[in-house]
Amino acid sequence: MHDQSKQKNQCAICHRRDFASEPGIPDTLIYANDHFIVRHSLETDILGYLLIESRRHILDASSFKQQESRMLGQVVQASTLAIRRIITPEPFRIYSFTLAEAQPHFHMHLIPRSIDFAEKYIARGIMQYPLVPGPDPIAMTDVINKMRDLFARLSTDIS
Ligand SMILES: [Zn+2]
Repeated sequence: MHDQSKQKNQCAICHRRDFASEPGIPDTLIYANDHFIVRHSLETDILGYLLIESRRHILDASSFKQQESRMLGQVVQASTLAIRRIITPEPFRIYSFTLAEAQPHFHMHLIPRSIDFAEKYIARGIMQYPLVPGPDPIAMTDVINKMRDLFARLSTDIS
């Protein structure tokens, strides 16, 4: 069994969840409920790159409670819909995966892949996508605000 308590104190995802209002931590929060948090990623310059994080410090879906299992599908759907509706031009693909290598805390990457994406980053090449520069802060804030509005309208369907 994976020892979850030992690593919890050093977990960047738990830290961001608990100290999100501290200065210096960008406000990337789009949506949160009792089980999952949706954020805009700061890892690349891809607008609409979202992260779905479990609130609990768990490694993977084998540790989900029943409510978390049920909820994840709804949050994935709402997040994917938000990307399709708000990112222009509408992405050709939306990559979704979890790795939990850098942070052993469940988080799903949802990455919009535009039709004109550089060939070398398509499919498995996405792992080579450059980490700098990060997102343009003004464009990212605009996307976050639009997605917050959309999630607020969708939230009655996510329960
Ligand atoms: Zn954690």
